Amino acid sequence: MSDYIVRAIAGNASIRAFGAITTNLVEEARVRHDTSPVATAALGRLLTAGVIMGSMMKNPTDVLTLQVKGTGEIGGITVTADSLGNVKGYVHNPLVMLPPKNGKLDVGGAVGEGLLTVIKDMGLKEPYLGQTVLQTGEIAEDLTYYFASSEQVPSSVGLGVLMAKDNHVKVAGGFIVQVMPFIEEKSLTKLEENIKNLDSVTSMLNQGLTAQEMLDLVLAGMNLEVTDTLPARFYCDCSKEKIEKAIISAGRGEIQAMIDGGETVEVMCHFCNTGYYYTVEELKQILLNS
Ligand code: ZN
Repeated sequence: MSDYIVRAIAGNASIRAFGAITTNLVEEARVRHDTSPVATAALGRLLTAGVIMGSMMKNPTDVLTLQVKGTGEIGGITVTADSLGNVKGYVHNPLVMLPPKNGKLDVGGAVGEGLLTVIKDMGLKEPYLGQTVLQTGEIAEDLTYYFASSEQVPSSVGLGVLMAKDNHVKVAGGFIVQVMPFIEEKSLTKLEENIKNLDSVTSMLNQGLTAQEMLDLVLAGMNLEVTDTLPARFYCDCSKEKIEKAIISAGRGEIQAMIDGGETVEVMCHFCNTGYYYTVEELKQILLNS
């Protein structure tokens, strides 16, 4: 089963809802970055939120970036998504290990205290930038707070990554539900009641629920209407030329040091961990062009 995002409306279009199954893309991120279980959970939750939030944008060229930076050992998490279901991301310290907290992976402990930054580049002069203080570092609560305080859109965010015994990703996914200003009081009450009685996302995913079935529970009794479904995947658009630009931005001193090393160097793409090779001759050319 491939990953996908379901987009829906409910309550006479006073609620918009997104559900996603992201098992494959989170597993691909885990394999590419060789992340520890707690790092996989943290990255997987942000990738899931990123691919959903990306799909909220209008244009194919729009780019969304989510950055979580905290005092915890994971150091930071960066995720980038477009509006077409493509997402990529990495953590600063993929090997972070922490004891479980209340029997669960301690994502909040791995992230620590810090900031969530949301950048939306929609081809305008300046990208949209929103920043909020991390509430728990558990990602879903941090995004709920971000939507309410920075975008003034009351939202409910649920994200889950469940690991199998051998530490591969058994199932991952989540939902984002947003309330429009004209929502009727009784719809809001019903929604709050549904969310209060909801199982955790990992538990719903573990029961084999689809993205739509999760939304059916979140929006039970509210005339849920699926508008479309969109495939989702881990995808990095890096290339030797793009990595070359990153080398140039590291500065001439850095390039000279690589040349002085006298050997072909491998430069990794942060997002997907693909290595690109540059010979001393190529590095000299890059220095000339920088
Ligand atoms: Zn890449």
